[in-house]
Amino acid sequence: MNVSGMYQRALEQAGVKNESVHHEFVTGVHGIKIDFDVTHNNRSSPLYIAGVMFKASLIMRESGGEGVIGILGIDTGTTRHAKDVATVITSAGFAMRAVALTTHKRIEDGKKHIELTDETRELVSAHKIRHIAIDDDTGTTGSSTAQPVPALRDLGVEDISVYYDWIRNPELPYLDELGVAYEGIIRVCLPDYEPDDCELCDSNVPLIPYASK
Ligand SMILES: [Zn+2]
Repeated sequence: MNVSGMYQRALEQAGVKNESVHHEFVTGVHGIKIDFDVTHNNRSSPLYIAGVMFKASLIMRESGGEGVIGILGIDTGTTRHAKDVATVITSAGFAMRAVALTTHKRIEDGKKHIELTDETRELVSAHKIRHIAIDDDTGTTGSSTAQPVPALRDLGVEDISVYYDWIRNPELPYLDELGVAYEGIIRVCLPDYEPDDCELCDSNVPLIPYASK
Protein backbone atom coordinates (compact mmCIF):
# COMPACT_ATOMS: atom_id res chain seq x y z
CA MET A 1 0.00 0.00 0.00
CA ASN A 2 1.33 3.48 -0.85
CA VAL A 3 1.41 6.45 1.50
CA SER A 4 -1.81 7.86 0.12
CA GLY A 5 -3.64 4.58 0.73
CA MET A 6 -2.25 4.35 4.25
CA TYR A 7 -3.35 7.92 5.00
CA GLN A 8 -6.84 7.21 3.64
CA ARG A 9 -7.17 4.05 5.71
CA ALA A 10 -5.99 5.83 8.87
CA LEU A 11 -8.46 8.70 8.28
CA GLU A 12 -11.32 6.26 7.80
CA GLN A 13 -10.36 4.37 10.95
CA ALA A 14 -10.35 7.68 12.84
CA GLY A 15 -13.92 8.37 11.67
CA VAL A 16 -13.21 11.11 9.12
CA LYS A 17 -15.62 9.44 6.71
CA ASN A 18 -18.70 10.08 8.79
CA GLU A 19 -21.41 7.71 7.62
CA SER A 20 -23.95 8.84 10.23
CA VAL A 21 -24.85 12.01 8.28
CA HIS A 22 -24.73 13.19 4.70
CA HIS A 23 -24.39 16.59 3.05
CA GLU A 24 -26.07 18.69 0.46
CA PHE A 25 -23.33 20.30 -1.65
CA VAL A 26 -23.34 23.66 -3.41
CA THR A 27 -24.35 21.97 -6.67
CA GLY A 28 -27.42 20.46 -4.95
CA VAL A 29 -26.20 16.86 -5.03
CA HIS A 30 -25.98 14.77 -1.87
CA GLY A 31 -23.08 12.68 -0.59
CA ILE A 32 -21.50 11.24 2.54
CA LYS A 33 -19.72 13.72 4.80
CA ILE A 34 -15.92 13.80 4.99
CA ASP A 35 -15.31 15.44 8.34
CA PHE A 36 -11.75 16.54 9.05
CA ASP A 37 -12.79 18.10 12.37
CA VAL A 38 -12.06 14.63 13.74
CA THR A 39 -8.32 15.08 13.14
CA HIS A 40 -8.10 18.89 13.08
CA ASN A 41 -9.50 19.17 16.61
CA ASN A 42 -6.66 17.10 18.02
CA ARG A 43 -3.41 18.74 16.96
CA SER A 44 -1.27 16.46 19.07
CA SER A 45 -2.59 13.29 17.40
CA PRO A 46 -0.14 11.40 15.19
CA LEU A 47 -2.69 11.43 12.35
CA TYR A 48 -3.00 15.22 12.41
CA ILE A 49 0.79 15.58 12.48
CA ALA A 50 1.17 13.10 9.61
CA GLY A 51 -1.39 15.09 7.57
CA VAL A 52 0.56 18.32 8.17
CA MET A 53 3.82 16.64 7.09
CA PHE A 54 2.24 15.14 3.95
CA LYS A 55 0.76 18.49 2.99
CA ALA A 56 4.00 20.38 3.61
CA SER A 57 6.04 17.91 1.55
CA LEU A 58 3.50 17.97 -1.30
CA ILE A 59 3.62 21.78 -1.40
CA MET A 60 7.43 21.86 -1.29
CA ARG A 61 7.69 19.25 -4.06
CA GLU A 62 5.18 20.93 -6.36
CA SER A 63 6.33 24.49 -5.84
CA GLY A 64 10.06 24.15 -6.38
CA GLY A 65 11.04 24.46 -2.72
CA GLU A 66 12.35 28.01 -2.71
CA GLY A 67 11.28 31.60 -2.22
CA VAL A 68 8.38 32.97 -0.19
CA ILE A 69 5.07 31.16 -0.31
CA GLY A 70 1.78 32.02 1.38
CA ILE A 71 -0.18 29.13 2.87
CA LEU A 72 -3.83 30.14 2.92
CA GLY A 73 -6.31 28.36 5.19
CA ILE A 74 -9.99 28.23 4.30
CA ASP A 75 -12.31 29.53 7.02
CA THR A 76 -11.90 28.03 10.48
CA GLY A 77 -11.54 24.51 9.08
CA THR A 78 -7.94 24.76 7.91
CA THR A 79 -6.70 28.03 9.45
CA ARG A 80 -4.80 26.26 12.22
CA HIS A 81 -3.68 23.51 9.83
CA ALA A 82 -2.30 26.07 7.35
CA LYS A 83 -0.31 27.69 10.18
CA ASP A 84 1.17 24.32 11.10
CA VAL A 85 2.00 23.52 7.46
CA ALA A 86 3.72 26.92 7.14
CA THR A 87 5.75 26.24 10.30
CA VAL A 88 6.92 22.87 8.95
CA ILE A 89 7.92 24.34 5.57
CA THR A 90 9.82 27.25 7.08
CA SER A 91 11.58 25.12 9.68
CA ALA A 92 12.46 22.34 7.23
CA GLY A 93 15.73 24.13 6.58
CA PHE A 94 15.34 24.42 2.81
CA ALA A 95 15.29 27.66 0.88
CA MET A 96 11.55 28.15 1.26
CA ARG A 97 9.88 30.51 3.68
CA ALA A 98 6.15 30.14 4.29
CA VAL A 99 3.75 32.75 5.63
CA ALA A 100 0.43 31.53 7.07
CA LEU A 101 -2.60 33.42 5.75
CA THR A 102 -6.23 33.35 6.86
CA THR A 103 -9.74 33.73 5.48
CA HIS A 104 -13.08 34.07 7.19
CA LYS A 105 -16.58 32.98 6.32
CA ARG A 106 -19.58 35.23 5.85
CA ILE A 107 -23.05 33.79 5.29
CA GLU A 108 -25.37 35.99 3.25
CA ASP A 109 -28.74 34.91 1.86
CA GLY A 110 -27.92 31.31 2.73
CA LYS A 111 -24.71 31.42 0.70
CA LYS A 112 -21.20 30.95 2.02
CA HIS A 113 -18.62 33.60 1.19
CA ILE A 114 -14.97 32.90 1.96
CA GLU A 115 -13.08 36.19 2.16
CA LEU A 116 -9.51 37.28 2.81
CA THR A 117 -8.91 38.80 6.24
CA ASP A 118 -7.37 42.29 6.52
CA GLU A 119 -4.33 40.62 8.08
CA THR A 120 -3.90 38.47 4.94
CA ARG A 121 -4.07 41.52 2.67
CA GLU A 122 -1.40 43.24 4.77
CA LEU A 123 0.88 40.18 4.83
CA VAL A 124 0.63 39.59 1.06
CA SER A 125 1.66 43.17 0.45
CA ALA A 126 4.33 43.37 3.20
CA HIS A 127 6.06 40.14 2.09
CA LYS A 128 5.42 40.77 -1.63
CA ILE A 129 3.87 37.30 -1.86
CA ARG A 130 3.36 36.22 -5.49
CA HIS A 131 2.92 32.53 -4.84
CA ILE A 132 0.18 30.98 -2.72
CA ALA A 133 -0.76 27.45 -1.79
CA ILE A 134 -4.34 27.14 -0.59
CA ASP A 135 -4.61 24.49 2.13
CA ASP A 136 -8.02 22.81 2.24
CA ASP A 137 -9.20 19.43 3.45
CA THR A 138 -11.87 18.05 1.11
CA GLY A 139 -12.26 18.90 -2.59
CA THR A 140 -15.88 18.33 -3.65
CA THR A 141 -16.66 21.05 -6.23
CA GLY A 142 -13.95 23.60 -5.34
CA SER A 143 -16.67 26.15 -4.56
CA SER A 144 -15.41 27.46 -1.19
CA THR A 145 -11.77 27.04 -2.12
CA ALA A 146 -12.14 29.09 -5.30
CA GLN A 147 -13.78 32.08 -3.64
CA PRO A 148 -10.66 33.94 -2.43
CA VAL A 149 -8.83 33.42 -5.76
CA PRO A 150 -9.98 36.61 -7.58
CA ALA A 151 -9.13 38.76 -4.53
CA LEU A 152 -5.67 37.18 -4.35
CA ARG A 153 -5.08 37.90 -8.04
CA ASP A 154 -6.17 41.52 -7.46
CA LEU A 155 -3.40 41.72 -4.86
CA GLY A 156 -0.83 40.68 -7.46
CA VAL A 157 -0.56 36.98 -6.59
CA GLU A 158 0.41 35.24 -9.83
CA ASP A 159 0.72 31.61 -8.91
CA ILE A 160 -2.09 29.91 -6.94
CA SER A 161 -2.46 26.17 -6.40
CA VAL A 162 -4.74 24.22 -4.09
CA TYR A 163 -3.61 21.29 -1.95
CA TYR A 164 -6.31 19.04 -0.54
CA ASP A 165 -6.14 16.12 1.83
CA TRP A 166 -8.87 14.33 -0.11
CA ILE A 167 -10.26 15.07 -3.58
CA ARG A 168 -13.55 13.21 -3.85
CA ASN A 169 -14.62 14.09 -7.42
CA PRO A 170 -12.81 13.62 -10.75
CA GLU A 171 -13.07 17.35 -11.51
CA LEU A 172 -13.56 20.47 -9.41
CA PRO A 173 -15.44 22.81 -11.76
CA TYR A 174 -15.10 26.02 -9.72
CA LEU A 175 -11.29 25.76 -9.79
CA ASP A 176 -11.16 24.57 -13.42
CA GLU A 177 -13.12 27.67 -14.41
CA LEU A 178 -10.50 29.92 -12.80
CA GLY A 179 -7.57 27.94 -14.21
CA VAL A 180 -6.33 27.02 -10.73
CA ALA A 181 -4.41 23.74 -10.37
CA TYR A 182 -5.16 21.34 -7.52
CA GLU A 183 -3.50 18.34 -5.96
CA GLY A 184 -4.67 15.93 -3.31
CA ILE A 185 -2.84 13.57 -0.98
CA ILE A 186 -5.79 11.23 -1.59
CA ARG A 187 -7.71 11.18 -4.89
CA VAL A 188 -10.53 8.72 -4.35
CA CYS A 189 -14.00 9.46 -5.69
CA LEU A 190 -17.06 9.05 -3.49
CA PRO A 191 -20.56 8.71 -4.92
CA ASP A 192 -22.87 11.73 -5.32
CA TYR A 193 -26.64 11.43 -5.57
CA GLU A 194 -29.30 13.62 -7.11
CA PRO A 195 -31.69 14.68 -4.30
CA ASP A 196 -34.66 12.82 -5.83
CA ASP A 197 -32.60 9.70 -6.20
CA CYS A 198 -30.48 9.70 -3.03
CA GLU A 199 -29.77 6.31 -1.48
CA LEU A 200 -28.72 7.99 1.76
CA CYS A 201 -32.03 9.91 2.08
CA ASP A 202 -33.83 6.64 1.28
CA SER A 203 -31.92 4.96 4.12
CA ASN A 204 -32.88 7.80 6.51
CA VAL A 205 -29.30 9.02 6.96
CA PRO A 206 -29.77 12.62 8.25
CA LEU A 207 -29.09 15.36 5.67
CA ILE A 208 -27.13 18.51 6.51
CA PRO A 209 -28.31 21.26 4.15
CA TYR A 210 -25.76 23.41 2.28
CA ALA A 211 -24.38 26.43 4.17
CA SER A 212 -25.67 25.28 7.52
CA LYS A 213 -22.16 24.32 8.63
ZN1 LIG B 1 -29.67 12.57 0.34
